[in-house]
Amino acid sequence: MIKQYKNNWLLFNLSQPCILCGLRPPAEAQICQACLDDLPWIGNACLRCAEPMHHTALSFICPQCQQKSPPFHQVITPFEYRFPIDQLVQLAKFNGQTHYLNPLAELLSQRLQAAPMPELIIPVPLHSKRLQERQYNQAALVAKHLARKLDIPFSNTLLIKTANTQHQADLDRKARRKNLRNSFQCVGTPPTSVAVVDDVMTTGTTAAEISRVLKQAGAQQIYIWVIARTAKELHLR
Ligand SMILES: [Zn+2]
Ligand SMILES: [Zn+2]
Repeated sequence: MIKQYKNNWLLFNLSQPCILCGLRPPAEAQICQACLDDLPWIGNACLRCAEPMHHTALSFICPQCQQKSPPFHQVITPFEYRFPIDQLVQLAKFNGQTHYLNPLAELLSQRLQAAPMPELIIPVPLHSKRLQERQYNQAALVAKHLARKLDIPFSNTLLIKTANTQHQADLDRKARRKNLRNSFQCVGTPPTSVAVVDDVMTTGTTAAEISRVLKQAGAQQIYIWVIARTAKELHLR
């Protein structure tokens, strides 16, 4: 009986076409090989903050990280925040189409195979008011998927957002820092190493502020795992 159910489930999944083109059978993460090849995979990037660095050497630390070492150990991401990843993230975040998150989390998990593993995985939290409006935290859905896949504990309660801050997208880097200051709170003792999961990293202000708070509470190694990273020219928009 169980075997039959499993077979039906498998057939059902195999018959679903690629979630991007809707045409070809999926190769992995519900996406076909041709669409996978066309995704904006991150190329050369800063080894610390994953800022995409075109036309530079492979092992590179960006000027900003050289000038001031970020409080997190490393950012890991599979993609640049460009089409169609930006569309999928937006649909998942604002249109309730959360079914796009699992394939994206799956592709992120493949990037983590050689990465150091943390003792705990947490999402970038939403303020309770915003969580109420949206009814889910897209970062938490991705973090849960990764925690299950990597068999690492997950916490949705260790870090909370205490201030309902203005949307970061409307602010420049300096204003973003000020906007976020003291808006996160760690309500327990974190383990030595923590991975913080988010959908997109833009300037890295949120990642830096959360890392600062977690370190203050006793964590030592902070890893930032995100689905996509914006390139510098997009920060200014
Ligand atoms: Zn496809
Ligand atoms: Zn950097």
